[in-house]
Amino acid sequence: MPTSPSDPHDLVVIGAGPAGLAATVTAAGFGLRVALVDAAARPGGQFYRQPAPGLGAARPEALHHSWRAFARRTARLDAQVAAGRVHHFAAHHVWAVTRDPAHWTVHAVTGPDGGQGRAEVRARHVLLATGAYERQLPFPGWTVPGVVGAGGAQAMLKAGLVLPGRRIVVAGSGPLLLAVAGSLAAAGATVPVVAEASGYAGYARAPRTLAVNPRKLAEGAGHAVTLLRHGVRLRSRSAVTAVHGTDRVEAVTLTRIDRDWRPVPGTGLRIPCDALAVGHGLVPQLEPATALGCATRRTPDGTWALVLDHQQRTTVDGVWAAGEAGGIGGAELAFVEGEVAAYSIAGRGVHGSLRRRRDRLRRFARTMAAAHAPRPGWTGWLREDTEVCRCEEVTAGRILDAVSGLGARDTRTVKLLTRAGMGWCQGRMCGPAVARLAGGGGPAADRRPLACPVVLGELADGQG
Ligand SMILES: Cc1cc2nc3c(=O)[nH]c(=O)nc-3n(C[C@H](O)[C@H](O)[C@H](O)COP(=O)(O)OP(=O)(O)OC[C@H]3O[C@@H](n4cnc5c(N)ncnc54)[C@H](O)[C@@H]3O)c2cc1C
Repeated sequence: MPTSPSDPHDLVVIGAGPAGLAATVTAAGFGLRVALVDAAARPGGQFYRQPAPGLGAARPEALHHSWRAFARRTARLDAQVAAGRVHHFAAHHVWAVTRDPAHWTVHAVTGPDGGQGRAEVRARHVLLATGAYERQLPFPGWTVPGVVGAGGAQAMLKAGLVLPGRRIVVAGSGPLLLAVAGSLAAAGATVPVVAEASGYAGYARAPRTLAVNPRKLAEGAGHAVTLLRHGVRLRSRSAVTAVHGTDRVEAVTLTRIDRDWRPVPGTGLRIPCDALAVGHGLVPQLEPATALGCATRRTPDGTWALVLDHQQRTTVDGVWAAGEAGGIGGAELAFVEGEVAAYSIAGRGVHGSLRRRRDRLRRFARTMAAAHAPRPGWTGWLREDTEVCRCEEVTAGRILDAVSGLGARDTRTVKLLTRAGMGWCQGRMCGPAVARLAGGGGPAADRRPLACPVVLGELADGQG
């Protein structure tokens, strides 16, 4: 059944993670009528995933830090929903945002294939708080069962109370690895090693940024203590360059890499394990934003994020953004940016202290992105038969043939010649890898008319 509130809202927020949640409760607190639309059944986004009610978890907060910041805002959300100031469209996936002269209309669908129901929500302003997804770089064996995303392992634990294995190697790059390894170890897994492909020297080169972000330093120290307590070794400038096993992970090869992430010959070490949690940072989720024409910028870790001004306004009039969509920066920054955006949308002056906190955390985010940015030498991990596009089963060899034999120079041409990026994920997973193999630094932020798959009937109804 379609739901079409005839009375437009002042604001529609897409995404109920820390950024969208903070923006919603702050804007509603200023008296705005807000619609909060989110693909998940409950608010919290990636960071505050909670066990499904049926699992009967007695203390879901035990799996999180900063739970109080979240609990405070969800209590305000519940009160504002009860008072009719906020409409929460949970489990609604937004596939498009359109504009008529007076309003924005957000089109969303429900159900696993988007065919169960739909909603159209009209509002005068839009806030995009769509978060991020994980970046995966391919290597031999990354499709073997038991290899999971690092964030995916964290999500399995937080939402399903399950571990991907009993002895789990954690690898890739970025601060998320430390949080994931700590959670897995605390939940009872053995984590023999965390392999960070970059080093941590990049942080030391920004002492002033560290000095004004003491909470971030404390967070890092907290992770270090947890890893020490559980006997987890941390190896920087190391990467998993192969997974062994056919039906299931049996071991991985851990290899030293140089500053450009090229494997150092003769340094491979075989580590027995039954799972690998791997991820190379996060990529802002921009589909609704780029479909609207919001301008993007390249961030220091090679991803694309939205161009935003000091009030969180995008380059499209009437559209704001907060959180990871504006560049990867963590949950605390997302909360702050959500509040800044709400002040701006409500026409209130943004507090100096709130703005300074946002700027401080953004500076830290830039340092973090530069410290963990993937280096081009990772392609040295690939073999000719390594699958790069998993959806369409396209190997590195076929992509390199398209480049050197057929003259492809960009992802689009490689896609047309090999089908890499044409599958279900539409290149979200293989895009950065294909672009690097084609000789580029990474795909430009795609502009897609649909933010998620929708059934044809829905599109037809939308036209009617
Ligand atoms: C898999 C994963 C695991 C992570 N684990 C950790 C961790 O353990 N520790 C840590 O410090 N940080 C972690 N992070 C990073 C952390 O989640 C972010 O820093 C933080 O959540 C940013 O908040 P946000 O509000 O910007 O986005 P998010 O929390 O990502 O929220 C975005 C919300 O937007 C919704 N959304 C997106 N697109 C649509 C659409 N088209 N329609 C409807 N809804 C949509 C999503 O359902 C989601 O609820 C993780 C990130 C990922 C991707």
